[in-house]
Amino acid sequence: MLDKVLIANRGEIALRILRACKELGIKTVAVHSTVDRNLMHVRLADESVCIGPAASAQSYLNIPAIIAAAEMTDAVAIHPGYGFLAENADFAEQVENSGFVFIGPKPDSIRLMGDKVSAIEAMKKAGVPTVPGSGGPLGDDAAENQKIAKRIGFPVIIKAAGGGGGRGMRVVHTEANLHTAIQTTKAEAKAAFNNDMVYMEKFLENPRHIEIQVLADGQGNAIHLGERDCSMQRRHQKVVEEAPAPGISQEVRDFIGGRCAKACIDIGYRGAGTFEFLYENGEFYFIEMNTRVQVEHPVTEIITGVDIIKEQLRIAGGLPLSFKQEDIKVKGHAIEARINAEDPHSFVPCAGDIHRYHPPGGPGIRMDTHIYSGYRVPPNYDSMVAKLIAFGDSREVAMARMRGALDEILVDGIKTNIALHRTIMNDLNFQRGGTNIHYLEHHMPGKP
Ligand code: ADP
Repeated sequence: MLDKVLIANRGEIALRILRACKELGIKTVAVHSTVDRNLMHVRLADESVCIGPAASAQSYLNIPAIIAAAEMTDAVAIHPGYGFLAENADFAEQVENSGFVFIGPKPDSIRLMGDKVSAIEAMKKAGVPTVPGSGGPLGDDAAENQKIAKRIGFPVIIKAAGGGGGRGMRVVHTEANLHTAIQTTKAEAKAAFNNDMVYMEKFLENPRHIEIQVLADGQGNAIHLGERDCSMQRRHQKVVEEAPAPGISQEVRDFIGGRCAKACIDIGYRGAGTFEFLYENGEFYFIEMNTRVQVEHPVTEIITGVDIIKEQLRIAGGLPLSFKQEDIKVKGHAIEARINAEDPHSFVPCAGDIHRYHPPGGPGIRMDTHIYSGYRVPPNYDSMVAKLIAFGDSREVAMARMRGALDEILVDGIKTNIALHRTIMNDLNFQRGGTNIHYLEHHMPGKP
């Protein structure tokens, strides 16, 4: 097993990784910026190193500083968490070239999945269902592009191959707008991602977002841990996630999950990963793969009993998967509410001091957070400060426990979106299950 792990992240995920390391008897190194000295995991880690000022570019994205910290402390492996450098193939490569284990897939897998055109191509080959589309980059021939759009059928969406975070996309409803839309998206993609490659897909009007969690050991074994429904979104940011997805049968789960596990073997994938799909009229359409642990991994851990971070650490330590597909049984239901430090009306992130914090408790409640009474939320990073997870034998029980926990929780001193979560949990359509990705923004009464 790994002897000492450097955690190249901050906040709740850094604490989550630290907890898994402790459980496995692995020593830990925390790296932090100057404003993050008081983070909970920095206090709890065996060693800590300040790697730079508050600005992420000079700290959590500073590759030489992170590798130097690993060298100084004799860490053997680096866990990137999510965000920051987690899907940066160059980082993974430099970590490995410096003699450390990167806790994640091989750099080539990150690169393959980081380019959406090559990712879709690889998925098609592996038998994973994709969105009807151009099947490759678009050229400058306007007539040819019109032909492709007609074959797919309007509306279509033009997407940047190097896009991410919901940027670099444009929906086109009519033939007349196609050429300009392609040219504009190309120019934007060039400016934002230094890569002007764009492709075309059918625009699905009212899909749900359903994703499959996978684990692969890079030794020929891969399994899936079922699906999550993350359709409750605002500006492409997930707000509530749940597992299993309402209305998905074991048969459908086995089918789509099986395809994803097979794809992992086909591409020689190693570690934890997520296949994201849009789901409409009973069909799955692959949109992208995330080659890292995700924010919403706890809901899957709860319904399968698999500790995803511990599995990541074991795989990085060279061990084979500790589970076979037939060991994985989905049991009960889990819902996660992302608690953000933000203005409840404008959604603008709100930093500040947490004067008092009281976590909710009781049966079926898990709180993944780094905050405590007296903690100051810095303005420099993502606004998510906690993940409140409720679970039970049924979706109804999980929702009831979530409502109770949202009444109990106290985060005093900063503005949060806790009230929004109460509204969602009390919404009749959410309670029925299966709302689509536009529901929160466009259809929910009292919508944000
Ligand atoms: P990113 O990497 O920027 O997150 P994705 O490919 O995952 O890009 O797409 C982000 C979001 O954009 C999706 O969750 C969905 O809401 C919307 N989207 C992407 N492709 C399509 C499509 N073909 N039809 C409808 N909506 C889409």
